[in-house]
Amino acid sequence: MNHITHWINGALDTSKPERSGDIYNPATGKVTKTVAFGNAATVDSAVAAATNAFSEWRHSSLTKRSQVLFAFRELVLQNKEKIAALITDEHGKVLSDAAGEVTRGLEVVEFACGIPHLLKGGYSEEVSTGVDVYSIRQALGPVAIISPFNFPAMVPMWFFPVAIACGNTVIVKPSEKDPSASMFMAQLWKEAGLPDGVFNVVHGDKEVVDALLVHKGIKSISFVGSTPIARYVYETGTKSGKRVQALGGAKNHMVVLPDADLELAADAAINAGFGSAGERCMAISAIVAVEPIASALVARIKSRMANIKTGDGTQGSDMGPLVSAVHRDKVASYIEAGAKAGATLVVDGRDLKVDGDGFFLGPTLLDNVTPEMSVYTDEIFGPVLSILRVNTYDEALSLVNSHEYGNGTAIFTNDGGAARRFQNEVEVGMVGINVPIPVPMAYYSFGGWKNSLFGDSHAHGTEGVHFFTRGKVITSRWLDPSHGGINLGFPQND
Ligand code: NAD
Repeated sequence: MNHITHWINGALDTSKPERSGDIYNPATGKVTKTVAFGNAATVDSAVAAATNAFSEWRHSSLTKRSQVLFAFRELVLQNKEKIAALITDEHGKVLSDAAGEVTRGLEVVEFACGIPHLLKGGYSEEVSTGVDVYSIRQALGPVAIISPFNFPAMVPMWFFPVAIACGNTVIVKPSEKDPSASMFMAQLWKEAGLPDGVFNVVHGDKEVVDALLVHKGIKSISFVGSTPIARYVYETGTKSGKRVQALGGAKNHMVVLPDADLELAADAAINAGFGSAGERCMAISAIVAVEPIASALVARIKSRMANIKTGDGTQGSDMGPLVSAVHRDKVASYIEAGAKAGATLVVDGRDLKVDGDGFFLGPTLLDNVTPEMSVYTDEIFGPVLSILRVNTYDEALSLVNSHEYGNGTAIFTNDGGAARRFQNEVEVGMVGINVPIPVPMAYYSFGGWKNSLFGDSHAHGTEGVHFFTRGKVITSRWLDPSHGGINLGFPQND
């Protein structure tokens, strides 16, 4: 059986791990690989490699860095189908969706190719007579990236291209459920000419994460995962003096106003609710229907659900399995809880029958969900859409703004004024207007509000460049005899 091990200093770690974990193919329910679980010693050796590589990489020219990034971009593009196949094998999402996540990750690589422009500083001449001031941004050092199972290629790619382009060295800790995409990309970095030690991968669970969070040699943590762990990572990492951005869970609302095109809204609800079996942090899980259109919208969504083919992601299905049996059962328990609490079960995904032992659950639609039900308050992270019926725009807005999460949201309407009001008033980090999954392009920044993000910096875009660099301002004067003399007063620019 294939055993996956750490990638440190440009090579596979050959030591025997004390612990390891199983990797499943969620479509068959079978264990297909194992992965080494690291510990503090593993982190020590990865940090030693990253620290050693940093002293050279931070001085590599911007031209050299962008050349390596361009080469990496070409290699990922050439290998997109192979990476997608690895993702589908371990995560379960359908192949086209897996290829789509690689494409979105590549956009960040393309953004980072422009690093010579992105790292330009400012310059002011003659701030005082003969004195100039300029600003530069410098790399932090070794940085850690800890990622979730649901985007094994894209989420690490939100961070590492920018971190590396800025002159940092990187240690990625992928999800132990689907670590192969990171390993494949490590080899592509080597092929692209990145020096050994600039990109490292360590595997494992809480033990290795904890070691990263407190290691003195790590300068920043970029984390993506569930809210309780994001909060823990933020608190522990900042207590150790690190810069931390910790992206957490979500409950994304789609508000449908009475004037919306209901056919387009129903298509959007299906795509954003059931794509990747709802295992997307930007998935729509709560539809807020502003009356009188709720029944008409529910009918349209229901009729479309009958056409969704759930099955093995390599076999032309629309929706694959959930990532694990435990997670599938947890999602199913929310369906039960919603029905018990009084929601109307319009389509029950538990009725789905697929041959074999895969972790399948069909798409589910619950109507008449109310705000206190767990199916609404909690992040479910599965193919379950809840309909909440309200009477006014203000009620819809208040629902969205009262929720603890603020990752993404969307409004469907043909009223430009209402949409503009929504974008202004809603307390959510990423907003779609007739766009159900408003994931920003790489040159903007990705991140939510409230319990969907701990820290101040969102991922990629300008905020990503700032996160992975520290600012420095230099005030310079080249010596001139006229500058002599003693003056104990505070410097004034006259
Ligand atoms: P998770 O929180 O279980 O795991 C995330 C990472 O943390 C993994 O690498 C895991 O090994 C590690 N981890 C798990 N438990 C830990 C612990 N007790 N201590 C230290 N580290 C620990 O999340 P997941 O199930 O892999 O991913 C799904 C979650 O990620 C969902 O909540 C989803 O909303 C969220 N997510 C958020 C975004 C975003 O942009 N906000 C994007 C993708 C996923």
